[in-house]
Amino acid sequence: MSSPKIISGKAYRRVLVPGVFLAVVIFLLVVALVLIVEQNSLRQNILFYISVAGSSYGLLVALFRYPTWENESWVHVVLVGISLGIFASLVPDYIFFTIYILYVLNMISAVLSFSVVQIHTMVAIAFLFHLYGYAQLNKLADLRDWLFLLSLPSLSLVVAEIVHRLQKTINDNFMQIEMINKISRKLSSSLDENEVHTWFKEAIQNVFDADTYYLALVNGDYLDLGLFYDDGKYYHAVHLPLEGTLGGWTIKNQQTLFLNDLRVEPQLDGVKTRLVGKEKASLSWLGVPFQTEHVTGLTGIASYDPLAFTQRDVELLESLTQQAALALNNARQHKLVVKQTRIDSLTQVYNHGYFLERLSEDIFMAQADNVPLSIIMLDVDFFKKYNDMYGHLVGDEVLMLMVKTIKRFIKERDSIGRWGGEEFVISLPKTSLEEAKLVAKRIQETLETMHVSVLTHRDIPVPTVSQGIAEYPREADKLFELVDLADQRLYIAKERGRNQIEP
Ligand code: GH3
Ligand code: MG
Ligand code: MG
Repeated sequence: MSSPKIISGKAYRRVLVPGVFLAVVIFLLVVALVLIVEQNSLRQNILFYISVAGSSYGLLVALFRYPTWENESWVHVVLVGISLGIFASLVPDYIFFTIYILYVLNMISAVLSFSVVQIHTMVAIAFLFHLYGYAQLNKLADLRDWLFLLSLPSLSLVVAEIVHRLQKTINDNFMQIEMINKISRKLSSSLDENEVHTWFKEAIQNVFDADTYYLALVNGDYLDLGLFYDDGKYYHAVHLPLEGTLGGWTIKNQQTLFLNDLRVEPQLDGVKTRLVGKEKASLSWLGVPFQTEHVTGLTGIASYDPLAFTQRDVELLESLTQQAALALNNARQHKLVVKQTRIDSLTQVYNHGYFLERLSEDIFMAQADNVPLSIIMLDVDFFKKYNDMYGHLVGDEVLMLMVKTIKRFIKERDSIGRWGGEEFVISLPKTSLEEAKLVAKRIQETLETMHVSVLTHRDIPVPTVSQGIAEYPREADKLFELVDLADQRLYIAKERGRNQIEP
């Protein structure tokens, strides 16, 4: 299944070729019979026989060679046109219906192979030869002869047009399905939410005739329209309440909502249509909900025209939505797994490996912006004894409380990593040693006043911490030198009797 043209060609052949072949065989038998009984002149019989052969050839060659026919097509058009015309003028009255069969079959096969111009030319040639033959045989006596003469090109053009439209519809539908398949494949291999939006966008634009489309996710009581396009423009950070909106109704009922004429307000309890994006009301609206492990939401398309979408659009959007929802779910799952691999499960700060990555980025930025960066290395004092005295559960609680406390004194851009057991490192971009000392001091002073209560242990004082600080690039201009310096200073702080800050 590589290109739609070949697909439809194969499909037509499977159905049409045996049928047409049979029709032609029967047709030839009838003609042969006629020739035996007819008492025409020899010249007429020969001409008639040639015309039968010519128009039968038209059927067979066009169908069997489809769709590779190219250069000889005009020869074919002229030959078949002449044959049909002669046949029409010489066919005996009592089998004249055969001419309609021959014309119709030739038109069908011609549409599958030739251009509109070629088909019209074929019909015109047939008409001219038919007219000439009638004139020669003095058969243009009354109106009936003229009607018969003109009925053939009319019928031919109508048949050609119908087949052409059918073929176009089949091709269009095939292209749509092909597009959806292609995008489904892309979606299923995508692990990024933005990429999912991009593919969804492409699918909608290629498949539907929509003025508006969106992909929205439930966030609390609201719908976040992560992707929202209206009348040639993308909108960002658009939110809609779930309550009382078409989208909200769709999600609450987990049911596709297809409103094809919004000139009439929909009768859905508590739901009111509202303007989002452009100040222009949509008159057709289609929304498909989805619900997966990690995401709940809906996709919607709308049009400013009433009756813009069909049942087929409903099915296509449903299938596309299912793919998009799966992809979004995968993206979320992936994000979660990645996050889990970066985060320490007890304290929820960065683990050793990821913290180093972050610190390396922070240093890179500090170098680029030519600003200082400080790190604080922090270790709990006598934590082994503390654990022994109060138990590990209390110890764990202390570690969590410490992280919470540190977070109170650092900025959004700063990051904390768990360096090892009860040892943490804090990265403070755009911070000098003096400023970092203030942060360390606040942490120290706050911890001195804190207590924890776990199970039967009530109000146990939190242990003190020792901290070593170093500044990039003034004191060390490489990541590991910086960490090493802070570590040495932490050791000095411990040596000085613990609960100290160095320098
Ligand atoms: P110092 O003042 O020299 O740092 O003494 P310390 O006892 O804190 O140092 P040491 O390295 O001898 O012991 C660290 C202790 O930290 C050992 C371990 O029981 C405790 N610890 C490490 N990770 C955890 C944890 O996740 N939970 C609990 N409760 N304790 C931990
Ligand atoms: Mg310690
Ligand atoms: Mg330690």
